[in-house]
Amino acid sequence: MKKETLPRGVEILHDPCLNKGTAFTERERDTLGLRGLLPPRIHTQDEQVDRVLANIRKKPTDIERYIFLIALQDRNETLFYRVVTEHIEEMMPLIYTPTVGQACQEYGHIFRRPRGLFISVADRGHVAEVLRNWPHPGVRVIVVTDGERILGLGDLGAAGMGIPVGKLSLYTACGGIDPAVCLPVTIDVGTENEAFLGDPLYIGLRQRRTRGPAYDELIEEFFTAAEEVFPGALIQLEDFANRNAFRLLAKYRDRVCCFDDDIQGTAAVALAGLWSALRITGRTLRDQRILFFGTGEAGIGIGDLVVAALMDEGFTESEAHARCWFLDSKGLVVKSRSDLARHKVAFAHDHPPVANPLAAIEALRPAALIGVSGHAGSFSKEIVEAITRINERPIIFALSNPTAMAECTAEEAYAWSDGRCVFASGSPFAPVTFGGKIFVPGQGNNAYIFPGVGLGVLASSSRLVTDETFLTAARALAGEVAESDLATGRVYPPLNRIREVSAKIAFAVADLAHRRGLATEPMPPDLAERIQQLIYQPHYVEYA
Ligand code: NAD
Repeated sequence: MKKETLPRGVEILHDPCLNKGTAFTERERDTLGLRGLLPPRIHTQDEQVDRVLANIRKKPTDIERYIFLIALQDRNETLFYRVVTEHIEEMMPLIYTPTVGQACQEYGHIFRRPRGLFISVADRGHVAEVLRNWPHPGVRVIVVTDGERILGLGDLGAAGMGIPVGKLSLYTACGGIDPAVCLPVTIDVGTENEAFLGDPLYIGLRQRRTRGPAYDELIEEFFTAAEEVFPGALIQLEDFANRNAFRLLAKYRDRVCCFDDDIQGTAAVALAGLWSALRITGRTLRDQRILFFGTGEAGIGIGDLVVAALMDEGFTESEAHARCWFLDSKGLVVKSRSDLARHKVAFAHDHPPVANPLAAIEALRPAALIGVSGHAGSFSKEIVEAITRINERPIIFALSNPTAMAECTAEEAYAWSDGRCVFASGSPFAPVTFGGKIFVPGQGNNAYIFPGVGLGVLASSSRLVTDETFLTAARALAGEVAESDLATGRVYPPLNRIREVSAKIAFAVADLAHRRGLATEPMPPDLAERIQQLIYQPHYVEYA
């Protein structure tokens, strides 16, 4: 920003994108009219970081830490991203799962300032106008939810805004995407959450969900308006219920640059984790049978990508499908069931019905269990012991979020498998000591995938995001897992390498976009350098 166009005085102090707080220099204080508006002592950004960390660590609860961090984001964005980027392992569970889940549940009660853009059913016919109210014109990444399936917590309506806000913070912290080009959107079509409907402090429309054609027309208007106001922006669909998620993805994926993170992002992170786990167990994806607990967005997304990976290795589609078996709340997904939703049919096998998960394990003898049911405790002691009887090194991924919804804890998985399982979870678990050995559970966090995918889309101005994009991203992520990670049981790289890993994923994604003719900008002479140039660094610039 040119010096002449910079706001002055309290105005710059109140602009989170420009504010540096006590770090404004003597010269800046003179030229920007800040004398007297700040205490005289000038702090370095490092000193400010120390103050922020001390304050966060003093807070008694994680939700208090979340509130503190969001307040920091509202007043000094650069400092917020410096803290989050450099302390990602400590900060991610606060700005994302599990704390963000509680934040969404309590959104109306902890509400301070609005963040993101709210579009409601009342805005029909005016959505482009609402988008134009956003103060930053160059938006390139939008994360949008309708709040119907927030993590494993169900319908949180407009209070689901914490999710797009949190995901976009991760785009910046983990992928280096400039926060100025990020837009969180919540489409408020009402809620079925009885507690919220009766809560005077709930921030959304206190009415039941609009469904059917009126819902579809609003979503269509949103996609059309987004293309008009922010042409070429990447749109990430987030936490829609599966009744809408699959069909919206099918409707828009070939028309708009969009993807559904719960379906496709989850798939890539889980597949990368599986590939790493197989390096530990010494087997291949081809000789595995995988049993999924949960046949929703996450389960079907992972299943589809495993099928794509197997077909890439030469399997036919039906051979690939035969490797993936699913349980839902009614039992094994088999052909004879008449109650199967459309998205489950491709994975319904010829097999007698089995209602009980333990019986399914004994009948199918899987090598891996993937928990994406949102049902806490479904990997019971009997289940873990059963898969451990069948496999020397069973693979157990308890991916349901937040922590309280996990199918089992890391401690339970290692204890019940006698330290033999390869474990990953959706929400973070601390390292576990068992039998004198320290196990580091991998966190199958989508943040390993979507920031890199987003950066790759930006670096190529890709027109579309495809399933191959996610297969490529999964390969790039798996390629970043070192032998030293595997030695501790970790199936993902450490989070403190995430920016480096995202840049590698971005390279693979952008390169693919160029090779597939999806890029709308010419291939740069040096793609890695082009990606580096895009990466936002949370350091102050000198204004004067
Ligand atoms: P969804 O509502 O689309 O699907 C849930 C599925 O679980 C349904 O098929 C349902 O029938 C089934 N189910 C419910 N209870 C079950 C039980 N006891 N046994 C077996 N199946 C059961 O939800 P989703 O989007 O697929 O998400 C599911 C969970 O996965 C959530 O907790 C979500 O937070 C988590 N998730 C984790 C990650 C990650 O860690 N990377 C990513 C996405 C989703």
